[in-house]
Order: sequence, then C-alpha cells, then structure tokens
Amino acid sequence: MRIGSILLATIIMAAQALAGTWPDGKRVAVVLTYDDALPSQLDIAIPALDAAGLKGTFFLIGSKLRPEDIARWRAAAAEGHELGNHTIRHACPQASYPPARKIDTSEAYDVTTMLTEIRTMNTFLTAIDGKMQHSYATPCGQHLAGDVDYLPALRASGLVRYTRAADPSERPLDPMDVPSRFFDANATGADLIAAVRGAERSGAMIVLGFHGVGGDYLTVSAEAHAQLLAYLKEHSDSIWVAPFSTVMDYATHEPDNK
Ligand SMILES: [Zn+2]
Repeated sequence: MRIGSILLATIIMAAQALAGTWPDGKRVAVVLTYDDALPSQLDIAIPALDAAGLKGTFFLIGSKLRPEDIARWRAAAAEGHELGNHTIRHACPQASYPPARKIDTSEAYDVTTMLTEIRTMNTFLTAIDGKMQHSYATPCGQHLAGDVDYLPALRASGLVRYTRAADPSERPLDPMDVPSRFFDANATGADLIAAVRGAERSGAMIVLGFHGVGGDYLTVSAEAHAQLLAYLKEHSDSIWVAPFSTVMDYATHEPDNK
C-alpha cells in the first residue's frame, strides 16, 4: 500500500463520525484552505473559486501581508471567503525549516508570547474583515512555543474555536486539531479529485490544504486546481464546499440541525 493510500484511508476513518450529516442531503463536506497569504492565491485561486461559485479559507500570515493587497483580501472576505489566522511570524521549530531559515523559530517563544501573537493577528484580521471570530491554522502543523505544547493554553484562551492541523492522520474529531490533506507540487487534477472521491465514499469531511496555486511555492498547478474546482462544481448536488468555520460550525452543532 502506498503511503498516500494509507494517509487517505486514515482521513476517511477520522471523519466517519460525521458521515451522512451534511446540509441538504449532501454526502460529503469539502473545505478548501490556502496558507501563507500568497499572491498567487489572490491572482489565481480566488478568481478560480469565484468563477466556480465556491468559497475557500485563507490562513493569512501577518508579516507577509502586503499593504497593497489589503483591499483585495477585504473584498474576498466580503464575498464570502474566510480569512483565518496563521500567526504573524509563522514561527515553527527550527527542525521544520531548511538550515538557511533560522529566523522566527518557535524555540524563541513561550506560551504567553505565542498566544499574544495569535490574539494580535486576530485583531489584524478583524481590521480587514470586520469579523470577531477567526479560525486558526498551526504554522508547519506544529504547536510548540519553546518546548511547550501551546495547544492546551490556546484551547483555554478561547481566542479561536477551530484549529486546522497540517497532517491527515486518524483521530476522533477535535475542533482544535482538525486533520488536513496537502499535496505534492506534481499533484494532478486527478490526484486532487481522488482525495475528494475517497471522502465521498465514506461520507466524511475532508480539508484540503494548498500554498501556491500556479505560482509562489509548494505550488499546485493552476490547471490541477481548476480541474478540482470543476469537479466540485459539477457534483454540487452531493458535495458541500464551504469555508472551514462554516463546516466546523455545522459539524460541532450537528444535533441542533436535525
Ligand atoms: Zn504556513
């Protein structure tokens, strides 16, 4: 069994508890997430989503926000895309970076400074989109400040309700540690669609993760991305595509929706 198959199987198992619970009788929930505030997301991903009538979630890094892009992010939020918190400095453990990138590592943080940064980024986001609540994505999928796991303190703080992780491994649904599936740069449209089809078979939710789309880094091609969106649009009778917080609101309040 290929590693990819194992990972996909674990995603499906992780969300089994949610099977068959989606709005309007839809069979699966698909969340499209885009990390790091990259220009290709504004130039390519958002226009493609808009053309397909789909909404995504964009986890922004405060230090990467370009002043000239603020109006475009604000417009994206106003039309229904979600802006999420990906911290200000994207501090990960040094081990997550190539040796050349030694600035802004999480070893230089403690839990208090990390939570202060997340709170400040929430404020930045409120200044852009006017919303009082934002979801969160852990930089590099890590949640260490110094050598301390800050996720318990983040849970207790109430700063964010939902946290997207960056790995697809199996676990019970935890709104503060939601699995996600990222793809290699050479992923094809068929690869992306296959991941969705796997989730459709189980009725699970699936969170897909992207960085660059047709540009920047860790790039999935614009063509592969467009093929995925075309598939999602074509199957909109059975596939629910919505921003991360929208799907998580539904998943965590599902008994109220019956
Ligand atoms: Zn990131």
